[in-house]
Amino acid sequence: MEENQKFIVNGKRIDGRKIDELRPIKIEAGVLKRSDGSCYLEMGNNKIIAAVYGPRALHPRHLQDPNKAVIRYRYNMAPFSVEERKRPGPDRRSVEISKVSREAFEPVVIKELFPRSSIDIFIEVLQADAGTRVAGLNAASVALADAGVPMKGMVTAVAVGKVDDHIVLDLFKDEDNYGQADIPIAMFIRDGKIEGITLLQMDGQITKDELKEAIKLAKKGCLEIYRLQKEALFKRCRGEDFVE
Ligand code: ADP
Repeated sequence: MEENQKFIVNGKRIDGRKIDELRPIKIEAGVLKRSDGSCYLEMGNNKIIAAVYGPRALHPRHLQDPNKAVIRYRYNMAPFSVEERKRPGPDRRSVEISKVSREAFEPVVIKELFPRSSIDIFIEVLQADAGTRVAGLNAASVALADAGVPMKGMVTAVAVGKVDDHIVLDLFKDEDNYGQADIPIAMFIRDGKIEGITLLQMDGQITKDELKEAIKLAKKGCLEIYRLQKEALFKRCRGEDFVE
């Protein structure tokens, strides 16, 4: 991105999208043999694999909850996923993202059905281009459903933000890096209806009215993504193979 370059010209963004348009999304459920559920997801230039194990007995036993399953979520970025090689292994950012992502699923997964068990969710970011935490949540949701984990609905997520004083949907890297605000949001959707918000973070600065507008835009984006998540799961149920 060049200095003084405008983010929006004639209603179009740098990558050609309208302000309320998502990046192209591709979702495939059931792509891994050895996990209980899995998903491959692309959201623009983000490429994500989600794998789910469980519900299964949790060891060591002192970590067990006698009344419900314990959800564990590990978000990881591959060293080759970003422009400059990232040092492998967890860091403060990935620990924080793992925590808030797990919390986004807590009210949605029906944990009470599986006392003393764990449900493990692994997110591997293969290629990153802003919005990896929300892309990871979308993939995790499909992988959980693919694993047959009972849920009250789906978690669907998108980032909204502010660039050139406009509220825009689904920021890509330049908008995230040089924009005025970045707001990842996850919604809990049941039967096509938004039931609530299970993650909302923000950096940058916006007004109260802009926040309202941002949430409205996120709702629109989430409902579109929800439809694609469902489509991927239906395709998986029909037993179509994952072949290009
Ligand atoms: P999110 O990916 O959920 O938007 P951030 O806002 O923290 O999370 O990151 C925005 C983008 O910045 C990432 O998608 C990625 O492209 C880039 N990024 C994040 N961490 C690193 C890193 N350690 N090295 C290089 N780029 C990074």
